[in-house]
Amino acid sequence: MEEYEWEDWLPFLILMVASVIYLGKSALGLSSHRKRHNFRPLEQEYKKELEEHFLYYQNLSSTNKRKFETRVQAFIDGNDFIPRSYTHVNAEMKALIAGSAIQLTFGFEHLNLEHFRKILIYKDNYYSTITRKYHQGEVNARGLIVLSWNNFVEGYEVHDDGRNLGLHEMAHALRLENAINNDEYDFIDDAHINKFELLAKAEMERIQMGADSFFRKYGAANRHEFFAVAVENFFERPNEFKEYHLELYHTMTLLLKQDPIRLFQGYNSVPF
Ligand SMILES: [Zn+2]
Repeated sequence: MEEYEWEDWLPFLILMVASVIYLGKSALGLSSHRKRHNFRPLEQEYKKELEEHFLYYQNLSSTNKRKFETRVQAFIDGNDFIPRSYTHVNAEMKALIAGSAIQLTFGFEHLNLEHFRKILIYKDNYYSTITRKYHQGEVNARGLIVLSWNNFVEGYEVHDDGRNLGLHEMAHALRLENAINNDEYDFIDDAHINKFELLAKAEMERIQMGADSFFRKYGAANRHEFFAVAVENFFERPNEFKEYHLELYHTMTLLLKQDPIRLFQGYNSVPF
């Protein structure tokens, strides 16, 4: 058996350290290329759309409006908007879709749903070859958000019926973002999620047993759908939600770090 001195291994050791440094640098290089970290003022064409069509934004204080605007621009910059039934994606589509993502995540200072990079826009319900069903929208773990524009617009046009496709899909995206191990990971306090799941389970059981509920039946499909349906109601009918189930409403304000009722009374979103 040959004897080796440690110096014999030195070239390999140097090579290993060098490659670790290189890998580290390239990973850092990737994240610094992300446009979403370059906060800049919202472009006028998008601002106009928010001012005309986005009630949540219209109700914000002027300080919160500025904050909302830069986050909308960062979301637009950080995502590819891909038309499916259209020749191009217009400013209204980009502004309002980004708006729904920021509305949901407004309580978190810098959250931008980083895992999601592509937003596919259909005109109407579309046929999914995976589920073999027609969908209004979907979100998948590969980083895709799919929306049908007509349904999205209806969600905001009828703003107080507890139905909002944009917020519904963004709610799915938020929970996935929280579960996927990346820069934006585990930002929701586990205690709030656990409390929410506990209260949700009880409400879902009530719905499954045929009891009258503030939440539509679809919410009882599974815990992910219940969360998405709860989010729709949290923003569209906060007063009624609070009156129906104070504890669940309160848990959602902790989970999302914002309270739409107080926000519109002029309070800042953080702390609320
Ligand atoms: Zn859903």
